[in-house]
Amino acid sequence: MSCLLSVVVPCYNEEEALPHFVPEIQKTADELLRTCSLLTEFLFIDDGSRDGTLELLRKYAGEDTRIRYLSFSRNFGKESAIYAGLEHARGDYAVIMDADLQHPPSMLVEMYQAVTQEGYDIAAARRVSRKGEPLIRSFFARAFYRLINKISNAEFVDGASDFRMLSRSAVDALLRLGEYNRFSKGIFGWIGFQTKWIPYENVERVAGETTWSFWKLFLYSLEGIIAFSTTPLAISSVMGLLLCLGAFLWMLQIVATTLLYGSPVAGFPTLACLLLLVGGSIQLSLGIIGQYLAKTYLESKKRPIYILKETECDKKFSYKIEEQK
Ligand code: UDP
Ligand code: MG
Repeated sequence: MSCLLSVVVPCYNEEEALPHFVPEIQKTADELLRTCSLLTEFLFIDDGSRDGTLELLRKYAGEDTRIRYLSFSRNFGKESAIYAGLEHARGDYAVIMDADLQHPPSMLVEMYQAVTQEGYDIAAARRVSRKGEPLIRSFFARAFYRLINKISNAEFVDGASDFRMLSRSAVDALLRLGEYNRFSKGIFGWIGFQTKWIPYENVERVAGETTWSFWKLFLYSLEGIIAFSTTPLAISSVMGLLLCLGAFLWMLQIVATTLLYGSPVAGFPTLACLLLLVGGSIQLSLGIIGQYLAKTYLESKKRPIYILKETECDKKFSYKIEEQK
């Protein structure tokens, strides 16, 4: 019996990249069928694109029965697109790929071997070099991985990409994590499972532009820390404790010197500095608590992770109704 592989592709404004990507992945799928007798379905998720991505997807779905698409009512982000894709995937295995050919389709064969013959549940691509990336960006990326691995219990692997093939049990595990704030690097690490890391060289985007600026990446890393670690909360309490202790010791010293030498109270500048220090640390702690509270607030609303506007299934459905009339 042959297995089915679901290829999940999040697309946001990819009208320039799709005409390169689709023929390439179709070729790979044909090859997989020939060499491994593996059937393939494609799930393209239009994440509220503003360009012609959706029209392209409609066209592709009409031409190739293996292609299905989901279209969101607005831009919900890549993480939501991945979730929607996995939710609709019917395959025994699923693979997540970018639409810009930064994830070489040629690696699918090796990934498939890893999950079928080598006993792994997940086969993931891992960038070995950060070539072509600004130095400062690499520096901060490394620092982020060192930090988050210290303060979180999920494993974060430097250079791990979202390009990965998952067995059905791993897909089901991912889908059980139905949180609204989806930090996929952490979610992938958190579910565990045996993962084979396959090294690959970073390739430039085939067309179009990346939507990640340095500032967006920075905010994203903060999100990761808040989603997968509560250490900042602990740090703010420890900081408060240390400040109290320091203040108490200093108070003792002032009392002692006043009693022993009758010296006047320490000057005004000391007070001003202390006030700033204490005020600042209170503000910082409140900010940290606020971040967690905001996340809790958003989760407590139980909003859906994405909203569908259109899929190719609707088309077939309305077509059937027309026929009956
Ligand atoms: N993407 C998405 N929603 C977004 C941003 C990106 O679905 O809000 C998709 C995008 O179309 C691409 C993939 O996620 O297929 C990776 O995006 P990008 O190439 O911009 O990121 P990078 O490769 O630079 O990390
Ligand atoms: Mg990319």
